[in-house]
Amino acid sequence: MLCTFQPLLLELKHPFRLATGMRTHTNAVLTTLEFEGLTGYGEAAMPPYYGENHETASAFLQKAAHYLKTWPSGSSLNQESIATIMSEIDALTPGNNAAKASVDIALHDLWGKLENLPLWQLLSVDPQRMPPTSFTLGIDTPEVLREKMQDAAPFSVIKVKLGTDHDKDIIRTVRELTDKPIYVDANQGWTDRQQALDLVAWLAENGVKLIEQPFKKDDLASAQWLSERSHLPVFADESCLRQADLPQLAGVFHGVNIKLMKSTGLHEALRMVNSARSMGMQLMVGCMTETSCGIMAAATLAPLCDYADIDGCWLISNNPFVLPEMEAGKVRLTNRPGLGVIPRRRGGAEGVMG
Ligand code: MG
Repeated sequence: MLCTFQPLLLELKHPFRLATGMRTHTNAVLTTLEFEGLTGYGEAAMPPYYGENHETASAFLQKAAHYLKTWPSGSSLNQESIATIMSEIDALTPGNNAAKASVDIALHDLWGKLENLPLWQLLSVDPQRMPPTSFTLGIDTPEVLREKMQDAAPFSVIKVKLGTDHDKDIIRTVRELTDKPIYVDANQGWTDRQQALDLVAWLAENGVKLIEQPFKKDDLASAQWLSERSHLPVFADESCLRQADLPQLAGVFHGVNIKLMKSTGLHEALRMVNSARSMGMQLMVGCMTETSCGIMAAATLAPLCDYADIDGCWLISNNPFVLPEMEAGKVRLTNRPGLGVIPRRRGGAEGVMG
């Protein structure tokens, strides 16, 4: 199996203001696996706060490519063999979660193409259970928010980033523009428990449906305090990367936001779905700033979750793949084999890599 990879800078249509600072682009890597004459696409999207970048991904993927070269031609790819490959890949180095996810996603895309079936069908996922996906608004001036609302038109839910000293003003501005339901992501930006609880009550009155990562990722005591009192479900994002994080979060958060770039890909994300459900937790599938490739992999997981926030590819201006299809505010799982992603230029891998 031939593994190649190409660094990418995903340019944001609008600079993204978060509680943690401003971003204009995200580092990403497109990973391509060639096997039996077919090509699988994968992606690593690497926001700065998880410590991965082009150098770390390149160093890791060189090791992964060396290992994948030994995968014998003629051997079959399926859920079990992907799990085996990914446990070997995972053992190569600690960390590198997004780079690992890029291999995992490419393997799943390749599996579907080898079987000539869509991945959702191979994983027995029911497309009818697809939740609507939210469209994220970064912290911004009222003028820019108004502009962004136009991009949000196909979406039936808005996600708003809070964690500032003027959170109510941001919600009031958004509420002047739309009455769509809102998911709030505080991105670890809240510090005072009682203030957070009072704000949550106000947010609930203003059509907010859930709260994500209210406090610092390690402040589980505050998260538990708020979850026990909040009328809205409280979700973990930065507090929950991989399956091993789940046991300590049960009873602390109502739910977890699973992202492939944190979980090392679909194989572990699917396990996380089962573990979290057995612990009685709700589920959201989220994303980073990603191309259609990562988004379609997340969309395959979405029907197993209660909420979806998989809008990353609509936030960038240089997506190397065609945008996913949307239907009534939901990402549509197509009947194309694998992830069903289509490179923008003709000519397969070379086209994508340009
Ligand atoms: Mg988040």
